[in-house]
Amino acid sequence: MWISAEKYGLTPEQITVITEALWKEEQSYIKECSDCGVQVGEKHHPGCDLAVCPSCKIQTLQCECGSEEMNVCDGLYPGTRDCYDKKLICIETSILEKGLNPLNHSNWIFDLNERRRRIINGTL
Ligand SMILES: [Zn+2]
Ligand SMILES: [Zn+2]
Repeated sequence: MWISAEKYGLTPEQITVITEALWKEEQSYIKECSDCGVQVGEKHHPGCDLAVCPSCKIQTLQCECGSEEMNVCDGLYPGTRDCYDKKLICIETSILEKGLNPLNHSNWIFDLNERRRRIINGTL
């Protein structure tokens, strides 16, 4: 099970520190799209799994608005940048049960499910 940083009880300052560290790490190893292979900064190829619909901001393959426009590849999994902007991060409860340090950013991930819920609820 995953819980959000808010539910876990991190302070806003702690959330910021972890989010920034995660973001830096995400960006450090990405040079190209892991699905269609374009370089960061180029548009994804049609049918790419990691392309995001410019209108509704979800994966183009799941989007129902019919837009066929491809976004520019930032090398990240769809929604990661939004999670970074909104500081949506979560942690696996099993990590906490193991007693691992919750302030170590490596134990957190960007919370794409929470982002999706908020898009569906219209709160993002
Ligand atoms: Zn791609
Ligand atoms: Zn769409």
